[in-house]
Amino acid sequence: MASSVAKRLGGKVAIITGGASGIGAATAKLFFQHGAKVIIADIQDQLGVSLSKSLANHYPAAANNIHYTHCDVTSEPHVENLVDFAVSKFGNLDIMYNNAGIIGDHERLPAQDSSTKDFKRVMDVNLLGAFLGAKHAARVMVPAKRGGVILFTSSIVTVVGGLAKPAYSASKHAVVGIMRELCMELGEHGIRVNCIAPGPVPTEMMKEHFKIEREVAEELLKSKAAVLKDTVVKEEDIAEAAVYLSSDEGKVVSGVNLVVDGGFISVNTTFA
Ligand code: NAD
Repeated sequence: MASSVAKRLGGKVAIITGGASGIGAATAKLFFQHGAKVIIADIQDQLGVSLSKSLANHYPAAANNIHYTHCDVTSEPHVENLVDFAVSKFGNLDIMYNNAGIIGDHERLPAQDSSTKDFKRVMDVNLLGAFLGAKHAARVMVPAKRGGVILFTSSIVTVVGGLAKPAYSASKHAVVGIMRELCMELGEHGIRVNCIAPGPVPTEMMKEHFKIEREVAEELLKSKAAVLKDTVVKEEDIAEAAVYLSSDEGKVVSGVNLVVDGGFISVNTTFA
């Protein structure tokens, strides 16, 4: 456990969707290291179980504070059960991080060749899934009267164009819309609602999108995507932002779409 580091989430109960891989996995690890009780939710069971086991083995004193649960965020019964499970296992829910997301098929296909089926799938996972997570978190957070934090992963595509296909971009813009409405609705209950808008991060999603290996993606990002010299925004950088927004350091921050991009939007270009 990060004993030299003050535990900024001590005792907090957190759910992270899409927590088996990439940004979600890095956040699960950092939340856990900061003393949170963490439920990793995903559809990649093998990855999720193995992450949860490896963290438990690494920090045996906190082994009971990490758990993996299968949850397809497009299914309301799954999300409902996930939230109820967190409350029954750990007593309450403090942080709901709606992070699961997909790019979908044929990212590079021109709009006129794209399919309605793919459009709907991207919306289901990225938008409906995020809303269901927020809805069921509010269902338990409001009556618990302990405040709380609802976070979403939006994307830099909500700030600049030319980086993603319409379905993906639309889904992430809509997530920002949900965040803004819920920030107003839930503020009176002490619940803060924010988005993190990552710039390009060399996760599995990017690998799949550009059909390139991580090392190649990192070099590309270093040369083209950052203002900060030799900077690649990594999963851990997004996780740090999630800790900030979820902890008391962020206690006056709500309604924000926080860009974490190494200066990418200042370059005002695309890197593809
Ligand atoms: P990733 O592919 O490594 O992780 C996404 C996770 O979501 C995977 O573990 C996947 O299994 C899970 N998931 C997919 N569909 C799901 C479903 N129906 N139910 C539950 N889980 C599901 O990619 P990542 O880059 O870590 O993506 C995390 C989030 O960050 C996504 O919302 C993505 O849109 C967003 N994002 C990524 C980047 C980037 O450059 N990597 C940039 C901006 C935003």
